Order: sequence, then C-alpha cells, then structure tokens
Amino acid sequence: MTLSDDEVGQRLAARLRDVRSRIDAAARRSGRDPDEITLVAVSKTKPASDVEAAYRAGQRVFGENYAQELAEKSATLAHLGDLEWHFIGRLQTNKAKYVARVATLVHAVDSMRLADELGKRTGERTTPLSVLVEVNLGDEASKGGVRADELGALLRHIEGVSSLRLRGLMCIPPHVSHDASAVPGEAARPFHQRLRSLRDAHGGATRLPVLSMGMTDDLEVAVEEGATMVRVGTAIFGARG
Ligand SMILES: *Cc1c(COP(=O)(O)O)cnc(C)c1O
Repeated sequence: MTLSDDEVGQRLAARLRDVRSRIDAAARRSGRDPDEITLVAVSKTKPASDVEAAYRAGQRVFGENYAQELAEKSATLAHLGDLEWHFIGRLQTNKAKYVARVATLVHAVDSMRLADELGKRTGERTTPLSVLVEVNLGDEASKGGVRADELGALLRHIEGVSSLRLRGLMCIPPHVSHDASAVPGEAARPFHQRLRSLRDAHGGATRLPVLSMGMTDDLEVAVEEGATMVRVGTAIFGARG
C-alpha cells in the first residue's frame, strides 16, 4: 500500500509530537526547561519528501550522516529558507567542503586535521561554522571520537581556528546489551554522565553550552543527564531499510 502525501504528513506530525512530548516530560521530571532542548530530526537514508513533510509539521533542524546525501537534499530543499542542516556523521577530510557550505553545526569533529580542513572550507560563509567535538567514551578503536585524555588539546586547537566556533560535546554510547526488565536506554546513562562530567572538567556550560547526546532508545535518559540536543531518527521517520 502506498500512502498519500497527506497520510505521510499526518503520520510524521504525530510522531514528531510524540517525540517532543517524550523530551518535554523527561525535562520536567528532572527540573529542566524543555525549551533548552533542541530536537534534531535524523533524516539519513530517507527521501527529501519526508524532510519536507516534517518541515511542514513544524520541524526545522535536520541531521544527516553522509556528505553526498546532505549536498543533494540541501539542494533539493533550498526553497525552505529557515531549515537548518546539522552534519552528525563521521566526516572524511576530502568531503569537508560539501559540509562546510551548508551545515549550521557539525557534531562529530574528532581530530585537529578535520577541524583545520573544515576551517579552510568555510570561504563562502558569512558566519563561523559551529562545531561540536565527538568524544569516544567506549574506548573501542573502531569508533569515532577523540579520547578523553586528548580532549583538552583538541578544544584549544579548535578555539584557535578563527572560522570555527566551538559549541560543545557529542557522544554515541557503545551498544550495550539490554536487560529485558531495564528501563529503555538506561544502559546508556553512565556514558551520558561521563560526557557531562567531561564538559564540567573542560570549562562547563560557558565554554561548551551544547551537549549532543541521546537517540531514539535513550533520549529520556540523555535529557535527564543534561542533553541540550537529542538526535532522533527511527522514532520520527521509521526504521531505516
Ligand atoms: C542514525 C543516528 C542517529 C539516530 O538514531 P535513531 O536510533 O534512529 O534515533 C543519531 N545519531 C547518530 C550519530 C546517528 O548516526
């Protein structure tokens, strides 16, 4: 069965409302203002028409993981003037130019080399490119992110690149096996706590106002631990093929 545009739009609007109310409830439970938390709708692998439908339902911030896909979708949807693109994936230095052109925030900077390359590619922008540093909390060699003991040096380096603006930290907790009786996402809590304490150890919210953590399964826990941005794909756009 193929859904009409209207049906797709209504379903996306309902899912967005549902995710937003999960965020708001978690914020209130922990004594936080729900307005401090930005929802990044992760649209990777989904068609531009889904992004446009979510936009019509009021969503403005979207996250993409692949430079080529971001370049294509942002061109297709260029008529939606106040739509904001965040790049949340691992970025190869040779793709930095596509991202620096259209993204308002890059979530996963994890090396001086990548920071330098992004900084060089901001030529057409009138404002600095905002970036977050991804921290590797799982210590798995295969994953992205800077090691906690190298974080300080990378933060100072980025502050020395005049075309970049350091905004905060990001993490992707490693997959932890879930106990069937556990609260969803509870296994991710120690990682969110760790990112927050690293933020506190490196200048706090004055220097690093943004904490990007929490996805479909662990967004409540992330908000309880201080997330100011949650990156949610599946709960909004459905499972990826
Ligand atoms: C895909 C992705 C997400 C969204 O994950 P869901 O579980 O679908 O909500 C968030 N952050 C990053 C870095 C991703 O790659």
